[in-house]
Amino acid sequence: MEFINLHRQYERIKDDLDQRLKQVYEHKNFIMGPEIKDLETKLAAYCGRKHALTCASGTDALILALMALKIGKGDAVFVPSFTFFATAECVSFLGATPVFVDSDDSFNLDHRSLLKAIQDVQNEGALKPRAIIPVDLFGLPADYDEIEKIAQKYQLHIIEDAAQGFGAEYHGKKTCGFGVISCASFFPAKPLGCYGDGGAVFTDDDDLAELIYSFRVHGQGKDRYDNVRIGLNARMDTLQAAVVLAKLEIFEDELCRRNAIAAKYTECLEKYYPVPFVPKSKSSCWAQYSLLAESEEQREEIMMKLKDKGIPTMIYYPIPLHLQTAFRDLGYEKGSLPVCENFSKHIFSIPMHPYLSEDEIHKITQALISAVNQEKIK
Ligand SMILES: *Cc1c(COP(=O)(O)O)cnc(C)c1O
Repeated sequence: MEFINLHRQYERIKDDLDQRLKQVYEHKNFIMGPEIKDLETKLAAYCGRKHALTCASGTDALILALMALKIGKGDAVFVPSFTFFATAECVSFLGATPVFVDSDDSFNLDHRSLLKAIQDVQNEGALKPRAIIPVDLFGLPADYDEIEKIAQKYQLHIIEDAAQGFGAEYHGKKTCGFGVISCASFFPAKPLGCYGDGGAVFTDDDDLAELIYSFRVHGQGKDRYDNVRIGLNARMDTLQAAVVLAKLEIFEDELCRRNAIAAKYTECLEKYYPVPFVPKSKSSCWAQYSLLAESEEQREEIMMKLKDKGIPTMIYYPIPLHLQTAFRDLGYEKGSLPVCENFSKHIFSIPMHPYLSEDEIHKITQALISAVNQEKIK
């Protein structure tokens, strides 16, 4: 059994995908070919945004967003500590300072911890609070109502990191539609992935879109050989756009399948484990289905028992970012963000993709139940 089975999806889209790739080989516009514009139009429509600009990765999407907002040295950017490294890495990469925020019990950024972090930075006075990067962790949208209230009060930009959240909804509105700029990743393991690296930036603001367009290709002005600012080479390959276009055709059906599988997991497991909670106002795209063990030792035991039965599991994330070596200089200590530190000791994720069979789901849930049954969790 695979943690994410991309082969079954390939079998399904093979004919359409092969056709689309063949078209790219034939027109040979490998850089910024017609598939790029086509994909950008479809992505913008899907997320209800005025502009969608594809780029080379989710990390580049975040960097482009911060560059467009002119965030750099002396600026504080508030990020959850419980996320993938790139969320905070891009902040430091541009010379700004990530300020880490603790999690709530949905694994997402806790707005009370956010408020406190902003007030602490204000009181210290060394950094200028500029932006918040909420993450739609594991596919669940962050609490944008609360975050927007805080952002408004302190005049901060919101940059949505929807790298794991593409396709999810909050109050009926799609992710990649929150904040002034949103960022998506099409890394192969994300809910909508390509066959390599890829990403996209979303905004409704014409000026920001124009800036991002320029930064994406060496700070271009009227053309590629007129350079008006320092930028990057952050384009998405035409071939990758063709892959995303093929996958977008079946994406709604895949979302339904992910939700059905998550519902089945929850139904079977809720008596034995704390299961992910999805509030009425939200829908998840289930990038991950994560459970909490009672202790680090118990987690290790559960994961070993599943491994013995051929069931892979993963730990997202074993080290919260404020305790990562790369951020050592920021001076965080163990115990400073207790909720997410606790998650990293107890959390583990089980196989989640739209093509899990009934048999596989049964095998996984039975193995999880028997792993804890003797110990009677809850
Ligand atoms: C994957 C991911 C990214 C980075 O995306 P890449 O396409 O791998 O560069 C950023 N933030 C989060 C939360 C992610 O999960």
